[in-house]
Amino acid sequence: MIFHKTVKSVLNRHQKRDSWFLDDYSINPYEGCGFNCQYCYVRGSKYGEHLSEKITLKNDAAAILDRQLTNRARKGQYGIIAVGSSTDAYMQVEQELLQTRALLNVILKNRFPVFISTKSTLITRDIDLLREIDQSAILPHDLQSKLGRGVILSFSISTLDENIARQLEPGAPPPLQRLDTMQKFSEAGFLVGLNALPLLPMISDTDASLSKIVQLAKQYGANFLLAGGLTLFGEQPGDSKTLYYRFLQQYFPDLCEQYIQLFGSGFSPNRQYQIALKKKIEKLCLAYHLKNSII
Ligand code: SF4
Repeated sequence: MIFHKTVKSVLNRHQKRDSWFLDDYSINPYEGCGFNCQYCYVRGSKYGEHLSEKITLKNDAAAILDRQLTNRARKGQYGIIAVGSSTDAYMQVEQELLQTRALLNVILKNRFPVFISTKSTLITRDIDLLREIDQSAILPHDLQSKLGRGVILSFSISTLDENIARQLEPGAPPPLQRLDTMQKFSEAGFLVGLNALPLLPMISDTDASLSKIVQLAKQYGANFLLAGGLTLFGEQPGDSKTLYYRFLQQYFPDLCEQYIQLFGSGFSPNRQYQIALKKKIEKLCLAYHLKNSII
């Protein structure tokens, strides 16, 4: 069921550019996400409620965005817009509702660059529109020589194991389809990368699994790989920590105690783990001649 709401603004301006994804702005074509990932950072975090059953469409979003971007463009305030920062812009309902497509048309008209991270294959529908944005967007001055193009696409996986993905990302296409989609965009000349985010401790962050992920990223045409650990928030029934621990108890009961040690009372694995993971990723990216950042 789709809900509707009236809003005054659809464009969020960040106080500071995101150091990973390079976006200065974000827009969310929808509230809620039908991919329903159990670990989704929105569940139980400061970003609020995030239930697949409740997908909300913002009324007149394209017209509102047009006004906002026209105003920003007039002032020369160009910056990369992350399309879908707390939802997947290409989840199932986009097929019929075309909200993301309408917003991208407005972005093209106003010549803003975009960053899109998705788990979906539906993004191929918009390849022509994205090509136009790629060629005509105006970048902020400091990115012009470093990036030199208007579209960055990232395809997201947390595991290559289809059974685990089915449990943890029940609404999303299987990981290999996401890699295939990345390859299509790579072959079409886009700047593409793989988001190995979040890597699942002791499940998809093992040496063998990381090697395979980096190897396939390279094989399927990634220009860069962004990798990071799992975050788990909240104690309520719909929160990511609750849902992820339920998944562990069902499929990996032996790991529960190790997760409790690793996370303690925090929402992310301890610092030692994060440093070790970063080093492993850097080493693998070096071995496969893959950048571990967009620029
Ligand atoms: S695709 Fe992204 S936004 Fe959607 S549920 Fe999964 S993690 Fe959350």
